Amino acid sequence: MKNEIVDLTSKLVKSQSVNPLYPGVETEKVLGGEKQNNLVLKDVIEDFGCKTALVEKAKERANLAGVLKGTGGGRSLILNGHIDTVPFGDINGWKWDDPISGKVVDGKLYGRGSTDMKGGIAAMVKAVQAIDAAGYRLKGDVIIESVVGEESMSHELGVDAVTEAGYRADAAVVTEPTAPPVRLAVVPVTPGAIWFKLHIEGKPVHVGVRDELFRAGGGGDAIGVNALEKGVKVIEALQDLEQQWGLSKKHPLFKPGHFVIHPGIIKAGPTGVLVPFIISDYCDIDYCIFYHPRQSYESVKREVVTYLNSVCSRDTWLRSHPPKIEWMLNWPSAEIPTRHPIVRTISAAHRQATGKRPTIKGFAAVCDAAFLDAKGIPSVVYGPGDLLVAHAFNEYVETSELVDAAKSIALTVLDWCGYEKA
Ligand SMILES: [Zn+2]
Repeated sequence: MKNEIVDLTSKLVKSQSVNPLYPGVETEKVLGGEKQNNLVLKDVIEDFGCKTALVEKAKERANLAGVLKGTGGGRSLILNGHIDTVPFGDINGWKWDDPISGKVVDGKLYGRGSTDMKGGIAAMVKAVQAIDAAGYRLKGDVIIESVVGEESMSHELGVDAVTEAGYRADAAVVTEPTAPPVRLAVVPVTPGAIWFKLHIEGKPVHVGVRDELFRAGGGGDAIGVNALEKGVKVIEALQDLEQQWGLSKKHPLFKPGHFVIHPGIIKAGPTGVLVPFIISDYCDIDYCIFYHPRQSYESVKREVVTYLNSVCSRDTWLRSHPPKIEWMLNWPSAEIPTRHPIVRTISAAHRQATGKRPTIKGFAAVCDAAFLDAKGIPSVVYGPGDLLVAHAFNEYVETSELVDAAKSIALTVLDWCGYEKA
């Protein structure tokens, strides 16, 4: 079925499904793409006997859920993927002037969403179809979910809407790309992610008196305060905390130092006047944190606030004008034990399908596994593709990996759900 798997991936890639709520996206231009893809998949999975439903929490953003009913007596399994993608970015960055070409060149299938994660969806769908085509009847139910909204953490419209519609199972496999660190790794743990903003205020004054602000004998804070430089000070302080994390926050499935505090956006200056002749009165910094899966959101927040407070207490201005913190988003972490039966099942399937030892590792980013897990469905990530090319220009997935993933998933389903030869 290699060609079928590749063709389905290509067909999905050729039909855009950019997340309409992704920052910077013109919603009306892309709205409906997710649903269009899910209607294609609906036909495919109905063809081999799935009973399907469209779960549409937001207009034109239908999730697809399909159940292949088992004969009874087996364990049930969810196969989950997200159909939405990030935007294309600068079109000039892509080969062939087409970010959704779906072309296959030298064993690589190109286009936005190929790795993240239409390839994973095609692999899981075709894996179940292959079981049916080979004449096996499963004992447990298999639930295929293609959900919207993952890329903007709209889980209430996507994965949660499907779970709340009643689609539950004894375990779930989320077919996101697992590299880095390893292609087709078995991933029972995902970190948490936080987005927060810091607002630092300064005191504007003519740049001609800058020396007064910090030279010995000057008037200091009473004259003016450069918010931009206070921002740099705060960034350096949080880099120190990040270094401490690198040494102290360890997890057996992540390489040392994986948990980070990333300053992603900085805006500073004199409000409304973009010239360097006035001391900056504001500095806004946006951060993304990847935190240890065994740490709670509240405790990470506390750690950052406590650290900032101690830094500010040693600064004459920040002591009385501490940065205001705005907590924007928390993507929860998730972890199931490496000895969990679904981890064992998929590891054995990987070995059988590829002839290689499975690598059990942590996920570099975050994904919907956390939201399945939060609803009591133990979840593992296993899928084709590579985060190094996800969200990037010329995103691709290797076609041989699509096939390997489909084989492993098929074997996982057979082993987990149980089967009879018809
Ligand atoms: Zn993804």
